[in-house]
Amino acid sequence: MLIGITGTNGAGKTSVCDYLQTRDFAYQSLSDEIREELARRQEPATRENLIEMGNQLRRTFGPAVLAERVKAKIQPDRNYVVDSVRNPAEVESLRRLPDFHLLHIDAPIETRYERVRTRRDARVPATFDEFVAQEQREMSSDDAATQQLLACYQMADEKLINDADKKALDARVDDLLRRWSMNSFRPGWDEYFMRIASIVALRSNCMKRKVAALIVKDRRIISTGYNGTPRGVKNCNEGGCPRCNSFAPSGTALEECFCSHGEENAIVQAAYHGISLKDSTLYSTFAPCLICTKMIINAGIREVVYSLDYPLNESALRLLAEAGVQTRQISLKL
Ligand SMILES: [Zn+2]
Ligand SMILES: [Zn+2]
Repeated sequence: MLIGITGTNGAGKTSVCDYLQTRDFAYQSLSDEIREELARRQEPATRENLIEMGNQLRRTFGPAVLAERVKAKIQPDRNYVVDSVRNPAEVESLRRLPDFHLLHIDAPIETRYERVRTRRDARVPATFDEFVAQEQREMSSDDAATQQLLACYQMADEKLINDADKKALDARVDDLLRRWSMNSFRPGWDEYFMRIASIVALRSNCMKRKVAALIVKDRRIISTGYNGTPRGVKNCNEGGCPRCNSFAPSGTALEECFCSHGEENAIVQAAYHGISLKDSTLYSTFAPCLICTKMIINAGIREVVYSLDYPLNESALRLLAEAGVQTRQISLKL
């Protein structure tokens, strides 16, 4: 899970980030990217310098530059909190990662001013009115390269009002984590197996087409196969199959083809290891041809899930239906 933090000054963004770190979230901050840049140029990290350098970087390298720099540091297997999201392009960039949520944190402005004042920070405006005016300037702007807190507020997946004590804030964050974890990005079984099949297909040595099949029983993979010339025969892409190497039109001269199909190889691999395919499901990146269909039926496979249509598969699908083998087509953007 990846949580982006946006919100107003003094709302409690740091408290939320600190708490998430106690929940084993790794911390990244878009502001730290600006601090690193200032340090490289040996300039002090004042509030004004941070804002100005942030704007300058966005103008030079595009409005999503800070998010892109942070993304390069993110490992996909960990949970992260990303602090200081202040521009819509940053939100859009982070949203391209799976399981991203933007959390906006706010509190009544008087409360926030009190919190900020007690920080005894020289950068804090001297009066409440100045604090309000400063905030107005940072809320929105016609310049796409600057801070756009209002637009980030509108893009937030969740808005949290931090108007009570720390215990209440932590409890609200816990509640969010529970809800977001339940809806966490995870592919369904069909997508899971079909994506694995598409990876298996990459290993195909056929120069005409790359196809693969996966045989699954009780949601466990028991066999895989990709298309290509038989074991011990020169690979198709090294000239092993005269038919494929003559670039024959699809569906023609099939009887001259030396390449085994993905489904055929998955069934044969099970035979090689002495595994029964009775009542299993076959996932194929391609609808089966007539020859593979006959093998599927007689191997006792109960269901065929395929992704792309094979040009000549009508009779195959009819045969599968007649034999009582269920078929489903799922379309995935692989
Ligand atoms: Zn081939
Ligand atoms: Zn086939």
